[in-house]
Amino acid sequence: MIDTVIFDWGGTLSPWATVDHLAGWRRVADVLHAQDPERAAALADALLAADGARWLRVRDEHRAFTLAEVLADTAAHHPADLPPDVLAAGMAAHWEYWRPHVPTDPEAAPMLAALRKRGLRLGVLSSTAWPAAWHEDLLRADGVLDLFDACVWTSDLEWTKPHPAAFHAAMAAVGATDPARCVYVGDRLYDDISGAKGVGMRAVHVPHSSIPAVQYVAVDVTPDAVVQRLADLPALIADW
Ligand SMILES: [Mg+2]
Repeated sequence: MIDTVIFDWGGTLSPWATVDHLAGWRRVADVLHAQDPERAAALADALLAADGARWLRVRDEHRAFTLAEVLADTAAHHPADLPPDVLAAGMAAHWEYWRPHVPTDPEAAPMLAALRKRGLRLGVLSSTAWPAAWHEDLLRADGVLDLFDACVWTSDLEWTKPHPAAFHAAMAAVGATDPARCVYVGDRLYDDISGAKGVGMRAVHVPHSSIPAVQYVAVDVTPDAVVQRLADLPALIADW
């Protein structure tokens, strides 16, 4: 009998969107070098490269990271380009850029409420560099944060999905003890489905994301089920 459902965030609770990452870093660079567009463009390229290098370590080693580490990696090569006194304003501009691209699926709140009504524990486990506060502000604004028992963001962990430690951290956060009684719902076969099944959870695939080729890892895994929309989940797992 299932007692816990844990969700991926990007591409699952928040529908997949293809976003111009360079433009997001350019917002930071424009705040830092408002009077010097060439310098801002070069810094945006460097920030994107540092971010991309960190995501490759996620793909290949499952090493978690934070935006602060992206900034530190960039500053190591461009020390004069990241003045600490304006960094907070720069990162605020980064968040303002991203925020409209990552709304919560309108089907999430009623679906989560239906699962809660059954007494299920609910959680989030997301591989992300963003601070927990950004994610939780977003979920709060969209009216779903209080529907979760706990949310785990890998910016607070050492490992990302599909590493077992990330899944175990999410189970511990929601108070789950038996992975066989947990369902994980996610959009990526490698990170989400193989990761969840690897620790003994059941796994439901939401197959609508255009995973970038650079992030794709081939894996031989079959989800326990596929849902085309979040609203279909409560009926699917009703007798699991
Ligand atoms: Mg995802």
